[in-house]
Amino acid sequence: MTSDSTRLDAIIVGAGFSGLYALHRLREQGLRTIILEKAENVGGTWLFNRYPGARCDIESIEYSYSFSEEIEQEWVWTETMPRQPEIEAYLNFVADRLDLRRDIRFHTEVTAMTFDEAASEWEVRTADGKAFVAPFVVAATGILSVPKEPEIPGMGAFEGVSLFTSRWPKQHVDLTGKRVGVIGTGSTGVQLIPVVAQQAGHLTVFQRSPAYTLPWEVRPFDDGELDELKANYAQIRAAQREHAVGAARLSAFSVMFEMMTKPPLKSASREEQLRAVEEGGIIGALSWGDVFFDIEANQMAAKLYGEAVARIVKNPETAAALTPSHPFGCKRPIIDQGYYETFNRDNVTLVDLRKGPIVEVTPTGIHTEQGDHELDVIIYATGFDAMTGAMTRIAVTGRDELSLGDFWTTEGPYAYLGIAVAGFPNLFIIQAAGSPAPASNFVTALEQHVEWIGDCIGYLRANGYRSIEALPDAQREWIEHATSLVAPTVLDHPSCNSWYNGGNVPGKKRMYMGYTAGIPEYRRRCDEVADAGYTGFKLA
Ligand code: NAP
Repeated sequence: MTSDSTRLDAIIVGAGFSGLYALHRLREQGLRTIILEKAENVGGTWLFNRYPGARCDIESIEYSYSFSEEIEQEWVWTETMPRQPEIEAYLNFVADRLDLRRDIRFHTEVTAMTFDEAASEWEVRTADGKAFVAPFVVAATGILSVPKEPEIPGMGAFEGVSLFTSRWPKQHVDLTGKRVGVIGTGSTGVQLIPVVAQQAGHLTVFQRSPAYTLPWEVRPFDDGELDELKANYAQIRAAQREHAVGAARLSAFSVMFEMMTKPPLKSASREEQLRAVEEGGIIGALSWGDVFFDIEANQMAAKLYGEAVARIVKNPETAAALTPSHPFGCKRPIIDQGYYETFNRDNVTLVDLRKGPIVEVTPTGIHTEQGDHELDVIIYATGFDAMTGAMTRIAVTGRDELSLGDFWTTEGPYAYLGIAVAGFPNLFIIQAAGSPAPASNFVTALEQHVEWIGDCIGYLRANGYRSIEALPDAQREWIEHATSLVAPTVLDHPSCNSWYNGGNVPGKKRMYMGYTAGIPEYRRRCDEVADAGYTGFKLA
């Protein structure tokens, strides 16, 4: 440690949803705490993903902090599901309302963290050569914050405009009349494509895996509707807290959760199947109790889904190309706004890369095995190095020179309770692998994490402990428990490469990274650990 290091009680990395609440919480507990944030403002991933159509598909009144009644009552959401600018504005409002900015160092990228065992503290180094020292580090670095850009030959040689959804320019991008290509049809692509289609002269969608989407109306609040909701906020939050996915109202997760309560597809007659599609459309095609547990039922649902898509998309070849072949549930579906209708437009072409992949980007467009496409703009909506990407890009060195990046790369992304890693004392990672965040309302999940971490640090300080470290056996058992939950399901089917299991990033150790028993059960287990004096951890 250098003599000019800044000494603190706790250091938080990242000023997104998690980091802002962590700063507020730890400051309230009397800890001298700062956030180190590489960006110029608060917002985390919601600051960068400002692509056209970006919005959250969880209702605004649930995709928001519950810890402050004042914030709940003062902030005004305008739509049932918030657009990116409104979420960004909300996080700025929170930062101002709680006077958080005075303890946030913007433009400060953390490059290394090293644990000094003798002193029981972390030294955190930044790209501008500064050092910060504190006993505790809270990594609020985000689960979907590091873009995964594809490695397509020739990308750099494209003479048109290349845009990346995860670092969309702040200034307006005019796509009017342009020949635009979009690569990627995950949640981001599904939100982006209908909006770009309305602006572009021609839109070509390059689709490797068709998405499952959940069409649902998103709308502005009616007059007085938000006030009525706010009057009932206590009940809304109570229901949300007790719901497995942390969102009791409409969300992609709650729609999927509801599906599990339906009768099994395998015993449904053809008439019952058709009625489900007629009455429920795309969502009806998927709403069967056995789809998440029986791969045959899932494949039957995929066929029905294709039939539902064919009722919307007029060109049968395009409809077939839009029918997924991977199991429903193993990738995250998204609430969509007119996605399939977009493919009926005259100015939209779908290229099914299952029939011949992209070979290269050329100076004038994209060359696939099926032919060439001349383009003015290429938009990459190709996903994230999720869950582990942000932390493996920092040189995190724990006890005995152990590197977190090496450990996660060679062994797997292990963490105890999805929060702490053996060998890395006093480092709390918000939403590490084995936490419920991937399959739930992230905000509900992170509030639990922040509160548990705050209580834990409070306990350590009150009882004279200087360090806490996950025990390897407890960590292994937790990961075994978390992965055993998905074993009887199709969620981690071998045919599926997704950010949930790391399969979307070549070379990444494959492991299903979510905790799927639900947030209430997760909270119960975490509380049990804390109440018993932090079982599974070594306190020193
Ligand atoms: P994603 O789901 O991982 O999708 C990436 C897409 O890019 C996939 O279609 C993928 O195809 C494709 N792709 C990647 N590399 C490619 C290549 N070299 N050639 C052709 N296609 C390629 O990423 P995302 O859409 O950004 O979504 C990530 C997560 O962000 C979501 O699952 C969700 O959790 C979150 N999100 C949430 C919201 C919200 O409303 N709350 C909105 C947007 C995103 P393959 O599938 O074949 O790999």
